[in-house]
Formats: sequence, C-alpha cells, structure tokens
Amino acid sequence: QHIKCGMIAGPGELSDMERTVTGWRSKVLDKSLIAQNGPVINMRSGMTVNEGTAPEGITGTGVIALIFAAMRDGRIEESKIRNDPIRINRKISFSEDDFREAGKAIGAIRAGHLTLMLTAGVDPERIKTMYMAGASGTYVDPVKSKEIGLIIPDCTTVKQVCYTSLELAKDFLLKPEMIGDLNALRDKLVTKHVMFASSDIFSELYVQEYAFWNDGMPLNRYRRVLERYGAEGYLDRTKEHVLVKPHERDIGDIGESLDIVDLGTSMSMSHDCSQCMLCVRSCPEHALSFGDGVFTVNTGKCLGTACGRCQENCPQHVFRYSAFRLN
Ligand code: SF4
Ligand code: SF4
Repeated sequence: QHIKCGMIAGPGELSDMERTVTGWRSKVLDKSLIAQNGPVINMRSGMTVNEGTAPEGITGTGVIALIFAAMRDGRIEESKIRNDPIRINRKISFSEDDFREAGKAIGAIRAGHLTLMLTAGVDPERIKTMYMAGASGTYVDPVKSKEIGLIIPDCTTVKQVCYTSLELAKDFLLKPEMIGDLNALRDKLVTKHVMFASSDIFSELYVQEYAFWNDGMPLNRYRRVLERYGAEGYLDRTKEHVLVKPHERDIGDIGESLDIVDLGTSMSMSHDCSQCMLCVRSCPEHALSFGDGVFTVNTGKCLGTACGRCQENCPQHVFRYSAFRLN
C-alpha cells in the first residue's frame, strides 16, 4: 500500500514484465484488462525504450514482476537497487523504499506459508498443489512468484482460480443451498485457527524475512532457523510446476455486465460536517480531496474498502464511503 506508484489493477497499469533480447518489456493493462506491450527496460544499463502503451501506475503483480526482473539481472542485490530508482518512464519509477515496502508483504507471505505448515506438522515437500486466488489468481506470473518466495517451492501444480469472491457470488445465485457447506467450512477454520500475531513461529520467521528484505541480511541465519524446524532446504529449492488456469481474466469471464472504469474516474459525495479534514489527511494514497463542499475520491488511486482510513478517522462518524457516487 505504500509503494509510491502502486495502484490497484486497472487500465493503464503496469502488470507484468517479459524478457526480450534488449531488456524487459513491461506489460500494460488495456480497457479490457488485457496486458499489452509497454516500454522496454534494460535492468543492467538502466536504459528505457519508450514504446507501446505508457503505464501510469504499477499493480501488485507488476511489482512482483519488476522485483523478479531486477533481481535476475543483478539490479537489486542485498536489498539495494543499483542506480536507484528503476525508471519506467517520466511518471513511473520503483525505488529502494518501494522495494522494502514490497519486501514486508512478500516476507509476510513466505513466513505465513511456513508458519501454517510447521504449525500443522506438514512437511513442505508434501505440498504438491498450490491455489492462487484474487489478483494473484489472475495476473501474477507463478514462475516469478515462486522465484521470489511467494509460492511454496515444492508444489508441482499451481492452480490460478481468478477472483473467487465473484465465482462464489455466482455459485450462490445458482445454488443457494450451498450456505450449509460454507458454514461447516467456517466452523472448521475457526476451530483450527492460527493467529500469526501471537504465533512464536511466525514471529521468529518474520524477523528473518524483515532483515533479508530491509537490510540485505544473508540467508544463512534464516536457513539455520529453518533447519531447527525441520524445513531445511526450503529457501533453496524450486521445483518446476504445471499451471492450470481456466480463465484468461477475471471479470469478463464471469459477467459482461460489470463495467471496467478508466483510470482517473472520480466519485463524489457531500454532507454537513465540521470540515476538520482528518479524512483527507489520513488518506495514504492522496486519493481524497475536498472543494466547494464536495468530497472527491480518485478511483485510480484509492485502495477501496480494504483501506477505509478516511471513514475510520472521521471523529463525527459522518463519513460514509458507500455514499460516494461515480461522477
Ligand atoms: S479508502 Fe479512503 S483513505 Fe483509503 S485510499 Fe481510499 S480515499 Fe484514501
Ligand atoms: S473527518 Fe469527518 S468531520 Fe472531518 S472533514 Fe472528514 S467527514 Fe468531515
């Protein structure tokens, strides 16, 4: 969330990088959220050839691809970016600070996978299939994800299942009686819950991850910690996998009636309040503004209801994100 040019997936966003003979070609989402060719970046020389669609932001999947490409070509080493930042074009770049922010999330995911397996007493080498959902289940390249630690290295099948919440909504409409199965699943999850915040295993592993991504700490110490847990070799294995991906993209495969909005689209609302502007100031993406009695949110920048800081910080409890309407 604190990556400077980071944005949620939408038209005009850099979502992937592909190796070419002259460098890494960025892939930029079009109006149908299909990746098209964008500028080519040579990670070694730092040169960029501006061709194709100019990106206006970077999605989470684009961040993964950028880190993978930069690590592959030695532009990122020991958590330092040579010739910081990596420039994509005049508007978009990826800096060492961005790398550290991304590392906090990547490290948490790898430490989280290990925590679940070690707590359940499952040897990682027994994990053969991994499911990826949401944006990861649609746009993320599993090979790149695996190389930077986001996928369990031992799995030999990766299933990308797109946005499961949309699939679930569709299934519910077609088969309302499945609520019973879901409630049973929920009860199982609640009784076998692992809370990372209070897990000693997670805490020990995440310290290692944090030091690796933030301070460039060599992995040797981390390897020794994993040996103690009986997970030796985890950081150094990568098995090839078969990819199962039934859909090319998320929304179009499920319902053509959903609109895909352009970057820069805004929503507005107004209400009576003290105009303290705490909501505007608490927005980490500078997506919210106020003028002439109207609050306006830039949907290209806003993180949506997963964030909600504007609403949470309203001392008068009058801010309602759901009251925004598209302009
Ligand atoms: S939800 Fe509110 S605080 Fe969060 S990014 Fe959007 S406008 Fe900003
Ligand atoms: S935080 Fe609440 S009271 Fe303050 S300006 Fe925003 S909506 Fe108004």
